[in-house]
Amino acid sequence: MNSHFHIAIDGPVAAGKGTISRIISERLNFLYIDTGAMYRVAAWLAMENNTEFSDEDALVALLEKSEIRMHNPVELERDGRLTSVIVNDQDVSWMIRTEEVGIGASIVGQIAAVRKILVKKQQEIAQTQNVVMEGRDITYKVLPDANLKIFLTGKDFVRANRRHLQLQSRGVDVTFNQVYVDLVTRDKIDMERTTDPLKIVDEAWVIDTSDLSIEQVVNLVVFKVNIMRETLQTN
Ligand code: C5P
Repeated sequence: MNSHFHIAIDGPVAAGKGTISRIISERLNFLYIDTGAMYRVAAWLAMENNTEFSDEDALVALLEKSEIRMHNPVELERDGRLTSVIVNDQDVSWMIRTEEVGIGASIVGQIAAVRKILVKKQQEIAQTQNVVMEGRDITYKVLPDANLKIFLTGKDFVRANRRHLQLQSRGVDVTFNQVYVDLVTRDKIDMERTTDPLKIVDEAWVIDTSDLSIEQVVNLVVFKVNIMRETLQTN
């Protein structure tokens, strides 16, 4: 097993993975990696370059020639974003957060060749440090030996409501119905795709966040990680 402590979090759309992972990473001083942002970048690159989501070769070529960097927001970047995403020196952190790019991400995420490139990048980042990594295939594909595996979920209605509020607070004009339909569509694509679908692994700690505050979930996880790390040190 890797000598670094790895927390792997999977779950459906708007289960709170991003917000919760970001706070946990700050409390534990771990690096936070939002793998969904990478699939969003793949979709955004396709849209920017007028490439069809189904054009596998063109998508792979675009990803291979693009430099994707992610870091914790610094100084002026602290504008509510959870992570800063830079593609070929352009800050795309907010551009990739639209509903359209989200749906595009779940379409390009069905392509095995795209997943192969992104999974490799994710594994390389985790190899050298303690991480909280969240996505759809982290617990069994990207970090199969993670010290702690969590499946974060919540009722569809509650998750759609959260996402709707988030979008409204950013001034995006979208109805609750549209957000609900997008969420259910994206979850269905993510759970039914043949390559690395979203699923609950046996070892996962399943946390339903519908009736819990962010702080409650964070406290639960941090408490457990601290006990695990103490046990590791004494053994
Ligand atoms: O997490 P987020 O909602 O930003 O992810 C956008 C999309 O990227 C997901 O709906 C999913 O289709 C895809 N994704 C994935 N594997 C991951 C992370 C995200 O397929 N590890």
